[in-house]
Amino acid sequence: MSMGKVRSNIAEVFAPLVDLIYPPRCPVCGSGIRSQTGLCGDCWADLRIPGEPACASCQRPLNSEDVGQGAICAVCMAKPPAHDGIAAGTLYGDISRKLVLSYKHGRKTALAPLMARLIGARLPRLDGQWIVVPVPLHRWRLWSRGFNQAALLAREIARSTDSSVAVDALLRTRRTPSLGGLGQKARARALSGAIALNPRRAEKIAGAQVILIDDVLTSGATSDACVRALKRAGASKVVIACFARVLDE
Ligand SMILES: [Zn+2]
Ligand SMILES: [Zn+2]
Repeated sequence: MSMGKVRSNIAEVFAPLVDLIYPPRCPVCGSGIRSQTGLCGDCWADLRIPGEPACASCQRPLNSEDVGQGAICAVCMAKPPAHDGIAAGTLYGDISRKLVLSYKHGRKTALAPLMARLIGARLPRLDGQWIVVPVPLHRWRLWSRGFNQAALLAREIARSTDSSVAVDALLRTRRTPSLGGLGQKARARALSGAIALNPRRAEKIAGAQVILIDDVLTSGATSDACVRALKRAGASKVVIACFARVLDE
């Protein structure tokens, strides 16, 4: 029996006891729910899940019902992306924002399995071997937050997809300012050279299929820098997977 199995059996045995001490509450609105993992029915219903039709290249939901299979969105049309697809667990909205806030800033790391489950449900079919790599945090940010929110999700995704994980495959070589409010060019400039491949993982990434994980995907500037670093290192495919995707800023 694997350690993971033993752990989940223990968790099952103790679940009723935990429920007695901490009655399960919806992590978004606080109303009582039946099990420790999940949201209440109302919050589930309000969670925005990306649907069809969607861009064949980046999976951005397309508005028109009458676009054909293989349609490409305006963003991808203007500039073919470096990535090989974006899988978003949810679209950024009221519910996903609250989940991200309590996960990242409220340090509710116990939300990671739930968030990873939502991401996993949107992943494309993964043929062959994949390596899961999180978007890196600068070490000062890591130190002040105490954990890399993307790395925790990466570990969960690796476990559920039977992939390997390389949490330190990418490094932030310097601190970058907040990208909010910056234009596309300014973002690219702020990130230039800030994300690099960890030379110790070069062999692992060369020729590999990579799932790049972030909690929130906003402009895509950071993930784009990561994708480029991975492709420069020889990654054959990089699929971006995020918990919440912001479509309009
Ligand atoms: Zn709720
Ligand atoms: Zn697109």
